[in-house]
Amino acid sequence: MSNLIPPHGGKGLTCCLLEGAELDAEKKKAEGLKKIAMSPRENGDLIMMGIGGFSPITSFMDEANWKSVCESYLLTDGTFWPIPVTMSATTEDADAINIGDDVALVDPETDEIMGTMNVTEKFEMTDEKKKFECEKVYMGEGTPTADEFWKIAKDDHPGVQMVMDQKPISLAGPVKVLSEGEFPTKYAGIYMRPEESRKIFDEKGWKEIAALQLRNPMHRSHEYLCKIAVEVCDGVYIHSLVGNLKPGDIPADVRVKCIDSLVKNYFVEDNVVQGGYPLDMRYAGPREALLHATFRQNYGCSKMIIGRDHAGVGDFYGMFEAQTIFDEIPTPEGGKGLLCTPLKIDWTFYCYKCDGMASLRTCCHGKEDRVLLSGTVLRKMLSEGGVLPDHFGRDEVVAILREYYEGVTDKVEVKLHGAATGK
Ligand SMILES: [Zn+2]
Repeated sequence: MSNLIPPHGGKGLTCCLLEGAELDAEKKKAEGLKKIAMSPRENGDLIMMGIGGFSPITSFMDEANWKSVCESYLLTDGTFWPIPVTMSATTEDADAINIGDDVALVDPETDEIMGTMNVTEKFEMTDEKKKFECEKVYMGEGTPTADEFWKIAKDDHPGVQMVMDQKPISLAGPVKVLSEGEFPTKYAGIYMRPEESRKIFDEKGWKEIAALQLRNPMHRSHEYLCKIAVEVCDGVYIHSLVGNLKPGDIPADVRVKCIDSLVKNYFVEDNVVQGGYPLDMRYAGPREALLHATFRQNYGCSKMIIGRDHAGVGDFYGMFEAQTIFDEIPTPEGGKGLLCTPLKIDWTFYCYKCDGMASLRTCCHGKEDRVLLSGTVLRKMLSEGGVLPDHFGRDEVVAILREYYEGVTDKVEVKLHGAATGK
């Protein structure tokens, strides 16, 4: 009997990934179906439905679910869900599909058929609807009015750009997943299905597990967040994004190497498990923090560490908006509500006067005594070969990152913004 938190939605892990003879038969059938090219985000969402990471969701959303999620954080059956999961197609492709048809979903980068979908609905995604989705999902305290939001979102918000660039028709329907793509081989030992992390936690006899979301190299603040969680939980799941990031971000294999070195040198290894998941970042701040908690529940985590500006980009969100949103969402009963709770931690940093890591809740000193930098600044300094302030990163981690940057020829300028510099 497992002590772990049940998967979200009350239906267990709903995995759409086929196996064995069923998989072979569906693959054969898929060859003859109309092929629809997926965006990287859609591909990641499909794989998550395959491995049960998005339980209880097993379909790309129809218009009623899409609208309900945007407006009220709920699927039409009353289950909590924070972010639209939709599949887009060109008008030409959509016109060639009849309701009830099966289509093959293809990763255009590899040409692999990743899954099939039984199309139950086609709905238009007009610019007006796309804007509605963006304002509901991506607008935060940083740009509180639609005017302010749109002034910068079109150029500076990668999540908004993803939605606005979507093809004009959305296809809805249940999926069957045929492949996890390159993730299991490219990230062997890191990429994990929810059933695998749950098995590891069960074997350790854990009940309360906190998830740490990582997309940047792990610096001292992440280490500190992790250690706070180790103190109050049975263990920590360091869960890295291995899907797509923004240009200029550090590749997953380098980040994984940094975490390995940090865990080996500065943690009790038994108390930490490392894993990876196949999604792209949406940079939806508070809404994405909710999504992170939702799928971490499926991975077996009862707590989600939420620090400052979680899943943010630029200055679109308030610094702690991703924490307060957990107090504002609907809480349906009967397994339909979000059970994974936030472990809210204030702004953390190294303080010279405290002579250690501290947060705004524990340190009474001034700005000048603190090393207040973000992962974005770390990347900028390393990419430009600059000297890092003491106590910002561990030497072992910084050495791995320097080695990586020495090999990068095609440098992307790292843009800074208020949230990254602590101003
Ligand atoms: Zn202090």
